[in-house]
Amino acid sequence: MKQVTATVISNAKLWGEYGILGRRKYLGAWLIWLKCPEVASKTKPGQFVMVNCGEECMLPRPLSIHQVNNTDIALFFAVLEKGKGISWLSQRKIGDNIDLLGPLGNNYSIHPESHNLLLVAGGNGIAPLYFLAQDALKKKYSVTLLYGTADKKRCSISPQIKLVSATEDGTVGHHGLVTDLLPEFADWADQIFACGPTEMYRD
Ligand SMILES: Cc1cc2nc3c(=O)[nH]c(=O)nc-3n(C[C@H](O)[C@H](O)[C@H](O)COP(=O)(O)OP(=O)(O)OC[C@H]3O[C@@H](n4cnc5c(N)ncnc54)[C@H](O)[C@@H]3O)c2cc1C
Repeated sequence: MKQVTATVISNAKLWGEYGILGRRKYLGAWLIWLKCPEVASKTKPGQFVMVNCGEECMLPRPLSIHQVNNTDIALFFAVLEKGKGISWLSQRKIGDNIDLLGPLGNNYSIHPESHNLLLVAGGNGIAPLYFLAQDALKKKYSVTLLYGTADKKRCSISPQIKLVSATEDGTVGHHGLVTDLLPEFADWADQIFACGPTEMYRD
């Protein structure tokens, strides 16, 4: 774990629209790539960084590592209404420096006997699970990623990983909740990893 300064390589709005995220209102989702060799070389899927979000935010904000590429890390984040820290992050430009602390937290642990991994992501829960999928595929595990979003637009992540989608409005994949897909895949899975809103775990 280190306090480091990372440099913005890119910062892109993936989609943006007023909507509801659990009980909160959100203004869109962003993907930021940072040059950060100290974290990129050490981090494991499931870990996160604490990002200092400017002088007006006393507390750093936790964000999961979403992807790693050699010396670079990507963070996938939702901007919430009145959420001033993450909103600050969404406004960073290429070449800006950002202070962060990490990698922090425990990583996902794959059982030695597991081969078929079922990943279940709801909304922003894709942030850490995408990294797990990427890493597990490199290590030759068999991975199925179930991804539930409100609609097709919000399902826009890199196509490198094969997804089974569920959308609440039916614009892509299964029409309904991501948890509806579980019975179809549960028997196949040796281990299931889930990340999403609290309601998803109750379903
Ligand atoms: C380990 C961990 C990993 C995480 N990983 C991710 C990730 O990868 N991607 C991601 O998007 N999120 C992630 N989160 C959640 C993320 O950290 C929070 O969404 C973020 O900290 C919120 O910060 P903010 O600056 O947007 O909002 P804050 O400024 O902290 O405000 C939070 C909310 O409080 C309310 N609020 C604040 N001020 C006011 C006000 N004046 N009046 C009324 N309401 C107000 C609003 O609802 C606002 O949205 C993670 C959280 C944890 C714990």
